[in-house]
Amino acid sequence: SAAGPAAGPTPAPVLRSVPDVAGPLLPVLGNDVLVPLVTGGEVPYAALDHAASAPVLRKVWDDLAAYAPHYGSVHRGAGHLSQISTDLYERSRATVARFLGCRADDEVVFTRATTDSLNLLARALPDGTRVFVFETEHHASLLPWRGRATTCLSAPRSPEQAVEALDTALRTAPAGPKLVCVTGASNVTGEVWPVRELAAVAHRHGARIVLDAAQLAPHHPVDLAALDADWVAFSGHKLYAPFGAGVLAGRADWLRDAEPYLAGGGASRTVARGADGRLEVEWHTGSARHEAGSPNVIGAYAVASACRALEEAGFERLVRRERELLAHLLAGLAAVPGVRVLSLFGEEAERVGVVSFVVEGWHSSHLAAALSAEYGIGVRDGLFCAHPLLRALLGREPDEPGECGAGESSSGAGQRPLNAVRVSFGV
Ligand code: PLP
Repeated sequence: SAAGPAAGPTPAPVLRSVPDVAGPLLPVLGNDVLVPLVTGGEVPYAALDHAASAPVLRKVWDDLAAYAPHYGSVHRGAGHLSQISTDLYERSRATVARFLGCRADDEVVFTRATTDSLNLLARALPDGTRVFVFETEHHASLLPWRGRATTCLSAPRSPEQAVEALDTALRTAPAGPKLVCVTGASNVTGEVWPVRELAAVAHRHGARIVLDAAQLAPHHPVDLAALDADWVAFSGHKLYAPFGAGVLAGRADWLRDAEPYLAGGGASRTVARGADGRLEVEWHTGSARHEAGSPNVIGAYAVASACRALEEAGFERLVRRERELLAHLLAGLAAVPGVRVLSLFGEEAERVGVVSFVVEGWHSSHLAAALSAEYGIGVRDGLFCAHPLLRALLGREPDEPGECGAGESSSGAGQRPLNAVRVSFGV
């Protein structure tokens, strides 16, 4: 077995607990994430790590394959393939705008992923902007604002508390531009945040709000106009497209007034050498301003294809099915002795298909390894790039924070669980 008992005076019952924990995961395995083991084994492998990167939908691969013979450079060439590719790239932008419920004058910028999108926005903030963020965010939403005046709010224990805390912080904030950054659904607890209410509070105090929808968008419709959020960021690879592209969409003004995120071709309208010998640049004003370099047409098309596939499948049906699986999973885990599901908002919280838990007396990394090796169930263990949140959820210092992702902790410590196991799934 890949798993061994945790170090400590009373060895943990490895081989008894693993089937216990595997049991509740089994109902979740009926979905389309069953793939044959890459090793060619007969054992089906269940990828329950969608929150990191979701499997690519067959429809998306098919669309990419159909496009392959027409593949060409975007915005540059006069040739036929270039025109097809340019058209596809811009149509992909329009599809994403529709998927996100963008307003007519919103910009849709193709980026590499959510981290890139939020860093782009961080570069576009007007001088003097103060950023408001809960400590519970993923590091991608916590760290891009470093170097700016930032108000970091403590972990709230209910959606209502989150709204109240933001209200208080904004009411007492100094004058000047303000930005609130909030996640739509937690990558650790799966809990859904009250985005519409937070947006209303932000706007009441003259602040703007950006929604980190990396975990929300794959599970829930995101409608910028209905939520009245100013920007949204998400990653294609969590939304059933392959790696490579993400999106920042929303208000055009701050993006238009900002220095380009990357300086280079594509972002510049004209470049000339001035009388004094210096380069004078006129930058584009639309999305091209922040898309310097050769556009990632494959990535953009894949994202748009995934958006279309989700629209066609119908979010209502997907949400219903996910809720059923989630209820199975939570009920099953509740019946396993020693399992504690991590939650900020409590049992009543609305959740997406992301659940993290600890098992008394277990190293999460041992459990995750055993689930993979013995049951073909791929989960994740660690601190999930959300160290302050894990600290709040575990009520103490987690073990040795390291890099994001699997094996992020666990330096060998007794019977107390020091990091968590995360199970995540979707369509
Ligand atoms: N925000 C949340 C809530 C996430 O879960 C993640 C990734 O796990 C990110 C942002 C960063 O996404 P990416 O790594 O695709 O940039």
